[in-house]
Amino acid sequence: MSTVSAPPRSVTVRVPAKVNCELRVGPLGADGYHELSTVFMAVGLYDEVTVTRAERWSVTTTGPYAAHVPSGSDNLAMRAARLLARHMRVTRAPVAIRIDKNIPVAGGMAGGSADAAGSLVACEHLWGLRMDRDELMELAAELGSDVPFCLAGGIAIGSGRGERLAPVLARGTYHWVFALSSQGLSTPEVFGEFDRLTTDISVPQPEPSPAMMTALRSGDPEALGDALVNDLQEPAFSLRPALRAVLDAGLEFGALGGIISGSGPTVAFLTGSSEHALDLCVALTASGVVDQVTRAKGPVHGVQILPGPTRE
Ligand code: ATP
Repeated sequence: MSTVSAPPRSVTVRVPAKVNCELRVGPLGADGYHELSTVFMAVGLYDEVTVTRAERWSVTTTGPYAAHVPSGSDNLAMRAARLLARHMRVTRAPVAIRIDKNIPVAGGMAGGSADAAGSLVACEHLWGLRMDRDELMELAAELGSDVPFCLAGGIAIGSGRGERLAPVLARGTYHWVFALSSQGLSTPEVFGEFDRLTTDISVPQPEPSPAMMTALRSGDPEALGDALVNDLQEPAFSLRPALRAVLDAGLEFGALGGIISGSGPTVAFLTGSSEHALDLCVALTASGVVDQVTRAKGPVHGVQILPGPTRE
């Protein structure tokens, strides 16, 4: 006898933050955007997104980074749900979205993109849509250049604006420490500063470096620490000079490498083990140069549906 299960009333997913192990910025295109080459790694610092059937659309945010997250239709999770509903012509679409926000806002860790990716997958499941993975990825790219990677997770090369993903041969688990700032940095402002500081008009076409590919293939955290590079680091330092002291402090306390994550202001440090990561957290906290520290392992999976949906 076959049983037909009722559709879920509510779906919860968890979505990881990302760090850019490498971020190369190429020439400015006619569309006003730079061609990028980046190596993303998903790390175990998660937002949880819950979607519940409702009479009207709404979004609420809880958790340590709930402040500064827009509560209306500007919220990326809401935009994602509405885009999917329109695209798939879902009737009775309204959902109440709840975001438990553990990824810093405007921290260069793709928190908003993570929520958009989470909302897409949660709504797909809630509405019983069986979508082709490529179709979902295309919608993700429409929402933002980091959204496809947040869906996929793991480690990947991103090109274009970061939305075109290619797999990377990688092994190992990496232990990161993140020095967080209480005030975010705006991504467009950091790119604006990159343009202001870049006087060389012959910026080369960006591509992943052999050193990064070799390091990831070897699974050696020391090699990865040496290969970390971010073209947005100097612009971020220029806008927020105090970040240079944070990077210096982490390296002085024995990190294998350090880098501004994405457009900052989060500073990511690579360590050799979870004990090493804990020691670095303690040293950075005691130093007083950072607002807050946290640690996480990578790579981790992209969006994951959590068990236990309530049913109608
Ligand atoms: P990236 O690393 O992709 O450049 P980021 O981590 O620097 O992104 P986000 O946390 O994604 O930055 O936030 C960027 C802006 O997006 C915020 O200023 C905020 O107003 C807006 N935003 C919209 N929806 C969300 C959301 N669900 N969570 C966080 N920010 C959001």
